[in-house]
Amino acid sequence: MADSIYAQGTAVWYDDKELGWTDGVVTSTEVNGKDVTITLSNERQGKPVVVRTSLDAIANNDRKLPPLRNAPEFDDVEDLASIPHLNEPSLLRVIQARYAQEKIYTFSGIVLVAVNPFTKVPLYGADAIKKYSGKSRENLEPHLFSIAEETYTAMRQTRRSQTVIISGESGAGKTESAKYIMRYLASVSERASGGGASTVERRILATNPILEAFGNAKTMRNDNSSRFGKYIQILFDESHTIVGARIQTYLLERARISSLQLVRGERTYHIFYQLVAGASAAEREPLSLNRPASEFSFLAGGSFDQDAEAKNFQTTKHALSTIGITDHQMTSVFTLLAGLLHLGNVEIRQYHTSPDAILDETEPSLITAMNLLGIDLKEFRKWTTQKFFAARGENIRSVRTVAQARSVRDGVAKFIYACIFDWLITKVNSRLETNESMTKEQAFIAVLDIYGFEHFERNSFEQFCINYANEKLQHQFTSHVFKIQQKEYASEDINWQSIEFSDNQPTIDLIEGRLGILSILDEESRLAAGADTTFIEKLNWQLLGSTGGKASANFRSTPDSFTVKHYAHSVEYDVEGFLEKNRATVPEEHLELILKSTNMFLRAVVETSINSGKRAMESRAPTPPPMMAASVPSTPRKMRPMSGIGVQNLVANLTNGLDRVHHGPKGGAGARKPTQCSIFRSSLKLLMDTLVQTDIHYIRCIKPNENREAWALDPALTLAQLRACGVLETVRISLSGYPNRKTYEEFCSRCVSFLTQ
Ligand code: ATP
Ligand code: MG
Repeated sequence: MADSIYAQGTAVWYDDKELGWTDGVVTSTEVNGKDVTITLSNERQGKPVVVRTSLDAIANNDRKLPPLRNAPEFDDVEDLASIPHLNEPSLLRVIQARYAQEKIYTFSGIVLVAVNPFTKVPLYGADAIKKYSGKSRENLEPHLFSIAEETYTAMRQTRRSQTVIISGESGAGKTESAKYIMRYLASVSERASGGGASTVERRILATNPILEAFGNAKTMRNDNSSRFGKYIQILFDESHTIVGARIQTYLLERARISSLQLVRGERTYHIFYQLVAGASAAEREPLSLNRPASEFSFLAGGSFDQDAEAKNFQTTKHALSTIGITDHQMTSVFTLLAGLLHLGNVEIRQYHTSPDAILDETEPSLITAMNLLGIDLKEFRKWTTQKFFAARGENIRSVRTVAQARSVRDGVAKFIYACIFDWLITKVNSRLETNESMTKEQAFIAVLDIYGFEHFERNSFEQFCINYANEKLQHQFTSHVFKIQQKEYASEDINWQSIEFSDNQPTIDLIEGRLGILSILDEESRLAAGADTTFIEKLNWQLLGSTGGKASANFRSTPDSFTVKHYAHSVEYDVEGFLEKNRATVPEEHLELILKSTNMFLRAVVETSINSGKRAMESRAPTPPPMMAASVPSTPRKMRPMSGIGVQNLVANLTNGLDRVHHGPKGGAGARKPTQCSIFRSSLKLLMDTLVQTDIHYIRCIKPNENREAWALDPALTLAQLRACGVLETVRISLSGYPNRKTYEEFCSRCVSFLTQ
């Protein structure tokens, strides 16, 4: 029986070393006792490919056997779960065949796979919204709107909150998808209320250009890359109309501010280019922006489209005013941004061969920057070029090196920018989540647009945090899929206990466990003498040396890097810069100067952030978990707001600084200060706690080629992403129960032939 699976004429896949998966057909199958020899139509070095196997291997669906290929009519299925032979090449074939027909969406069971077209497609107009609203997914082509409609219907029917998790690598189309979903929801809500777009809907949509101007930048992978993660909850009332929203952001990439840390060809945040291109003569004058953009070092000397950026500047300003930011506040924000641009130009030199930093009081950029930021020039100069530290009860002065002083200068710029970003998020949230909306809120539909798994040639702290988040989300995903499958099997009396799925809990434990990588990193970051080298030593000692236990199976290291075996890929992290990025502090003296600034707005930005930061800290209290409004309709206000993680970053910095301002230098060892990764970890915990209270929907965006070419699909690249985003894992879980799925027709014809035998 087992050998008949590979009967002569069976369509199979052959894994050609050069061509990848290619079509093949079984030309003959010979059985000799328990041994089976299968010959394929494919050739290797001029000879037909021969596969030697056994009846047992075939019965057990051995992975080394050529996977079975589906009939061509299955190439265009709308749901991958419905193809008879579920295997990697068959799934890829469907995605590829559909993409070739410009069908970018395909379901894979509960997941919607979206392949980036890299060109405008006529799929998202008002007619499309109308077409999908009120319809269930079975009746129409797969689409983002099928998912959006599903969330809306589910929320109406169950009163439960919903989350759409959108993942995928940089440039795959997450943010674009998130925007279309938000637009869809705004539009159906409009209809529910019977009117046109309300102020609140317009405000929610206005958050997109604001977040993109301040949080997106051009990178090698994407001209409009989001450099932060976001979770946007859209709040609905009892009549299913939008009443507000709240936004939580994660881990803004601060390093992008400093030209020293920019990869060649990449840019800093869009808003800086918009400002220098779009400010009017009257706006320009007081900000000292009357010079070519190429003269600002933070702009990385990059060329850019003056007209396009000027137009974007108007869009950003319009969005800011829609959300309720006054002209005066806008001017104040632009003043700080201009201050940062000038700060980036502050020239710090060295004296001949001495590495000591020199900064002149007459340095023109310093004068302009300090003027705009309202910071005391003399003091700033002093603390940028020197520092005091305590040793044997004495305060000892030392001169900073040029590199150190430049890093302090850029650190201050990063800090102020992070404050501005925070302030904006807080402002936006205060406009979107009013007392009224909180009273009326029945349930929310949220969209999570978060960076997918990253694996570059050089991976650093950011990749580590991102991949950690992805491990958590993957764990949530596989458990979810496994539970669905379990239910299905239980209902059909299949023994589901024999079904295994790759549990990534050991990797999560390795990262966040009591003696895991994060706690070692944090401990080292808190020590004054902590350095990247001592961090890696401790990692080795803890994870390899003494314990040598279970955790180390996923961990390897060299003197300057460590490798974690993630669910998607093993990634080697270069430890250089880990501690600095994790601490992300400004020197206490600079913090004090900023807090004493004569620029009232800078102080207000900082103060707003402190206050909202306090609330954020309170909302991080672990028990009880955040209540889901819809599950307790009588007390809708129990939902605990999720405040910006950026705010927490700010408080982290402030407490770092204030702590020492008030109590004198402590060498960093004393107080327990929140670090970037500990903040990220608790915000992730809060996110996971919120997610479990909602029904989750998944969209996996795929970047089909590296060149952003329209309608071009690289099979290997696509397959790797399908694997990394868990689509193949769901298939594998399904396969452990039913190795092959038969179509209804196939099943019937088998029954008929059996009965007529
Ligand atoms: P990152 O992680 O870098 O933020 P991302 O996944 O958010 O990346 P997007 O910015 O959404 O990627 O998409 C990258 C580009 O791909 C867009 O600027 C757009 O040109 C194109 N694109 C994405 N989705 C679509 C779509 N549905 N239709 C047309 N073009 C698209
Ligand atoms: Mg994005």
